[in-house]
Formats: sequence, structure tokens, C-alpha cells
Amino acid sequence: VRATRGGEEVRAYVPSMGQIFMRRFQLVTQFRQSLEEGQVTVHYQPKVTLPNRQVQGVEALVRWQHPEFGKLDPDEFVPAVEAAGLIGALTSFVLEQALRRVRKWLDEGLRISAAVNLSVRNLADSEFPAKVLDALRRFDVPPELLTFELTESGVMSDPQRALPILRELHSLGIVLAVDDFGTGYSSLAYLRQLPVDQVKIDKSFVLGMGTDLGDLAVVRSIVELGHSPGLTVVAEGVEEDIARDQLEAMGCDVAQGYLISRPLSEERLEAWLQARTVRSPGRHAESVLVL
Ligand code: C2E
Ligand code: MG
Ligand code: MG
Ligand code: MG
Repeated sequence: VRATRGGEEVRAYVPSMGQIFMRRFQLVTQFRQSLEEGQVTVHYQPKVTLPNRQVQGVEALVRWQHPEFGKLDPDEFVPAVEAAGLIGALTSFVLEQALRRVRKWLDEGLRISAAVNLSVRNLADSEFPAKVLDALRRFDVPPELLTFELTESGVMSDPQRALPILRELHSLGIVLAVDDFGTGYSSLAYLRQLPVDQVKIDKSFVLGMGTDLGDLAVVRSIVELGHSPGLTVVAEGVEEDIARDQLEAMGCDVAQGYLISRPLSEERLEAWLQARTVRSPGRHAESVLVL
């Protein structure tokens, strides 16, 4: 692409359709092997309860350290993996890593839940709930320590197929959350018909609430309307003290964002938790406080 700026020619590199296609093709063909070779990893981002600021859980977020393309974000490769029919392998991998982590915490006396993001394609697999149940049993993790996050548009694209699977997962005792809430259809009346326990306010509103009254109003109404059917309301994208304080004042239940922590490798998460663990003498239960 050529453009002129102050009489000088500026060139920007824009990959051609062919290059985009080739890269996508490469990613998809290399994905399985990358999983086996350990290039695909899971990072974890803590979530804290408001107002007492205890670590309630972590969200598992997939990462790919690609030998040629470098660090890839999920937004870049998850859609390609989905389109290639490989999402089942990705979800199983992330789920197992997350459950293994929760199991280790339980062994240390910590009750910390893990949230795994699902793709709508996972819900097209009628065997999915059985696979999840098998994984919970293998790691001996109680279902209430597992959360699945789904976007609203994901559920809406094929509700006939998605709903029975969601109901099955819910009846197992797994916590279900609607992710990126506020960006899609976002009808709370509709939300009542879904077997969900949590709404996660999309980070765009949370990031904007300090400067944009419209965003602030959206956040406030999601907190209020989410609470009326008894849902837990989670805010993602909490980057500033002020946002956390406002959310706390509104009664938002859980906060997640760079203010608390960025997504961390398993090793760094462990150090982060260790530094914040409060041991109560004479009791087994421990809690992790973020002040
Ligand atoms: P998401 O589930 O909505 O995850 C939240 C995203 O917001 C993450 O981006 C996280 O790093 C980012 N984030 C968290 N706190 C802040 C903050 O304070 N400020 C800002 N600006 N951003 C924040 P990430 O890790 O790049 O993931 C992007 C999306 O990729 C996720 O959005 C999720 O939809 C998808 N994804 C991630 N892991 C998986 C996975 O294992 N399976 C599937 N199917 N999708 C995944
Ligand atoms: Mg999520
Ligand atoms: Mg989100
Ligand atoms: Mg998202």
C-alpha cells in the first residue's frame, strides 16, 4: 500500500490474500504437532471477589509460541483452529491443563476455580459433556470449581444444538458464564432462558466507563439486571483503581483485569499466589488476598 505524507512516499506492509491464506493454512497444519511439542501453553488470569478481594478463580487463556511467527494471540489462531475442525483438541488440552492446576491447589488446601473458554463448535459435539465429566473424574475436581465461558453470539448461532449440551453441563454442576456480555443481542430476558450462572461484562464497557457516561450506564445496568435473576456479575478489563472502586460501589461481584494481574504463565502465577496467600493458623483452609 502506498500513500503520501508531506510529499514523502510511505509504504505499509499489507499481506496479500495469498499470504494470509498460506499463513492460516500453515497454522492449521502445524497445530496438532505444536500441541504435542509444548509450543501451545495456557496462561492464567486471576479474578478477585469484590469487595473482599479474594482470589476466586483464574481464567485459562491459550497461547502459542510459534517458531516462525513468534507469540500468537488466541484471536489470531483460535478462529483458524475452529474452522479446521480442531477445536476439540484445543479445548481438551486447555481443560486438562486447568484441571491439573486446580487439583494441585486442592492438594495445597486452596479452593480456586478455573474458567475455560468454549467455542460454539464444542457445543456441536454431543459427546462433549461426557468428555468433560471424564476429565473431572480423572483429576478428581468437583464440578463447581470448573467454569465454562461462552459468548452470547456463540450460543445464539445454533440454540437448538447448543441448549441441550449447556443444560447437560449445567446439570453436572459446572458453572456457566456468558462472556463479552453487552456486545451481542444482550437481551437479559433471553438470558433468563439460558442455564447460566454468570455474566461477564465485556471489557470495552469497563475500559470506557471512566470517560464515557454511556459505557458507565451500560455497566451499571448489567450489574443491576444481572443480579435480578441472581446471576454473578463479573467485570473484565479492570485496569484502574477507579474502575474497581466504581464496580465495587455498584455491587459487581468479581473483577478481572490488568489492575489485579495480567494473564501469567503457570510458573509466574504460582509465585503471584504464593506472595498473597494468607494461612489461617489451626485451619486447613487458606485464602489468597489481593490488597
Ligand atoms: P475473553 O475470553 O474475553 O478473554 C479476555 C481477554 O481480555 C484476554 O485476551 C485477556 O488477556 C484480555 N484482558 C484481560 N484483562 C484485561 C485488561 O485489563 N485490559 C485489556 N485491554 N485486556 C484485558 P486474550 O488472552 O488475548 O484472549 C482473547 C480471546 O481469545 C478470549 O477473550 C477468548 O474469547 C479467546 N480464547 C482465549 N483462550 C481460549 C481457549 O482456550 N479456547 C477458546 N475457544 N477461546 C479462547
Ligand atoms: Mg473468557
Ligand atoms: Mg471477554
Ligand atoms: Mg473476547
